[in-house]
Amino acid sequence: MARLELNDLRKTFGRGEDSVEAVSDLSLSVSDGELLVLVGPSGCGKSTTLNCIAGLDSVTDGTIRIGGDPVNERRPEERDIAMVFQNYALYPHMTAAENLEFGLKMTTGLTAAERRERVESTAELLDIDRLLDQKPKSLSGGQKQRVALGRAIIRDPSVFLMDEPLSNLDASLRSTMRTEIQQLQEDLDVTTVYVTHDQTEAMTMADRIAVMRGGTLQQVGEPLECYYRPQNRFVAEFIGEPAMNMVQVTRRGDRFVADGFEYPVPKRADHLSSGNSFTLGIRPGAIDVVEPQTGAATGTVGVVEPLGETSHAHVDIADTTLTITTDGPGTVERGDVVGVDFPPQRVHVFDVD
Ligand code: ADP
Repeated sequence: MARLELNDLRKTFGRGEDSVEAVSDLSLSVSDGELLVLVGPSGCGKSTTLNCIAGLDSVTDGTIRIGGDPVNERRPEERDIAMVFQNYALYPHMTAAENLEFGLKMTTGLTAAERRERVESTAELLDIDRLLDQKPKSLSGGQKQRVALGRAIIRDPSVFLMDEPLSNLDASLRSTMRTEIQQLQEDLDVTTVYVTHDQTEAMTMADRIAVMRGGTLQQVGEPLECYYRPQNRFVAEFIGEPAMNMVQVTRRGDRFVADGFEYPVPKRADHLSSGNSFTLGIRPGAIDVVEPQTGAATGTVGVVEPLGETSHAHVDIADTTLTITTDGPGTVERGDVVGVDFPPQRVHVFDVD
């Protein structure tokens, strides 16, 4: 167990005109035993950050500390970390037991009996004890990922690094494994950095989320903090499913207006810039359906997607379409004319970039 710190981390690939700055001035600390999820769209620098921590990529600038010690100059095997990859990275010619035992190769001084004992207890923990004699080709995706996790756990490292470990699994297995990894991480109490592009995975698993975009950190915070108090429009749109509605408005005195849309400027919005153009962000679940002509806008219901307990309805208002989460089926139907409204504390006001 150890605290992990990144100070002004920068990673540039290539030189001169063709160089790519994959990570820019990233400062971040992960507490002892914390599960931090690095999340962001493809290409935003997540894997590069993880590879720098692991020592698989060299650092251009900045410092990485594990347990207070700078590790920039240490080789991967000297960093006391274990990494789990999306493609499992198991040795095909070895059995599950041999793959697990391979994880111990860096742990010196264990007898064969001690190694066997560790393999068995790790396999039991991951519920793969019946599979120990099988080779990867006869294991399912989920079983392979358990062996890969086991190979990381067995070493009892200070830090776990996981790079999209669930991407190759189908949706239902992904959701089961998500819970299992989270539980395992909590039980083992190991400092963990988990990389994903999937905001649902980030929201459900993380102690804290770090949202990245274009190599830079956008916000670090607990999942619900990022959801309810996004620091910028990018975080607001990236976190939450379905995505936050964005409405382009103009300020006229104490009103925000757009075609077919009028809403009072929230009282707490006194920090707004002096410009006139803003974007209002409203979560689908924060919108109420009201009588036509009584709310912020009136529109016509388009596609309704039933999901069982809830539905997603798309309401066309002039040239804007709002997505609304409604209760169960039948609350609104295609072609209905409805009013929409939302409480001021659920409206996010962003400057237009
Ligand atoms: P993510 O994991 O968020 O999808 P990456 O860290 O893989 O993003 O990539 C970040 C940026 O760095 C991308 O623009 C990618 O093309 C670039 N990049 C990653 N690895 C290399 C490399 N070995 N050589 C050159 N560019 C790279």
